[in-house]
Amino acid sequence: METSLNRSQQSPIEQSGASGAPASDPTAVPEEKVSGEFDPRKNLNPDAQTKIQIENLNFYYGAKQALYDVALPIREHQVTALIGPSGCGKSTFLRTLNRMNDLIPGTRTEGEAIMDGRNIYDSAIDVISLRQRIGMVFQRANPFRKSIFDNVAYGLHIQRKSREAIQETVEQSLREAALWDEVKDRLKTSAMGLSGGQQQRLCIARALAVRPEVLLMDEPCSALDPIATLKIEELITDLSKEYTIVIVTHNMQQAARVSQYTGFFLVGKLIEYAQTVDIFERPKRKGTEDYVSGRFG
Ligand code: ADP
Repeated sequence: METSLNRSQQSPIEQSGASGAPASDPTAVPEEKVSGEFDPRKNLNPDAQTKIQIENLNFYYGAKQALYDVALPIREHQVTALIGPSGCGKSTFLRTLNRMNDLIPGTRTEGEAIMDGRNIYDSAIDVISLRQRIGMVFQRANPFRKSIFDNVAYGLHIQRKSREAIQETVEQSLREAALWDEVKDRLKTSAMGLSGGQQQRLCIARALAVRPEVLLMDEPCSALDPIATLKIEELITDLSKEYTIVIVTHNMQQAARVSQYTGFFLVGKLIEYAQTVDIFERPKRKGTEDYVSGRFG
């Protein structure tokens, strides 16, 4: 299947100054607005510590194996992008990191994901607190049918925080999610009145409110227009100073713009993992090269 990359014959890094939208798109972000902002070399820390080390990870939906012997490090305070064609296991892998797949009956995980010396799959791990430490943002914004304030405060009530602490953390989380200025005068109004991009930033604020260490993002921009996408991408770059981020994206320009490390998946296997610049400019595996140059996908 031919992709836009194939047609333009440009690497995603060369294209990464644009929003990824076609040039004729009236909502496309002007190139000068984004150029230089998203160079994956800019925020790269080649000496970043490993936050989670994944080894020998196999995953099964019933009898069907969806991940095969996956091994890679997730680097602290860096953005790791997971790319690959549809159905290759990116989302499944992402969900193994905070054991969201446990919620699907009949699934089985083998292997290890070591975070701070403990295996995430250890049966003694408290899954609720694991999911607070490793938060998640989904493809479609999923705010609760509550006020903007109550959406962000939700997890804090469960943690039995004081009124003052909740007030303070809600504001801080909305600021971190770059939403505060847009909503500070309407905190008690319904979250359902926000635009799609604002709802997604609200969901990010809700995830940040419980102070996670890692943020998993499953195609967080796929339902958004280019301007809202750009805002989320800028936010991801900012948040990576404080949080470790793993993002699934089908958009290679987005991976090039926001991530410092990239894993390329194909039919349940991790084919290549490296610094994003290397994946796009000097891939070692033929499969990676074919995919990033748009020869299939
Ligand atoms: P990607 O995120 O790369 O598009 P997925 O992780 O969604 O891929 O899917 C990987 C494989 O697992 C696919 O073959 C998909 O059909 C299968 N799969 C995903 N979710 C389920 C599920 N809930 N039950 C059974 N199979 C699933």
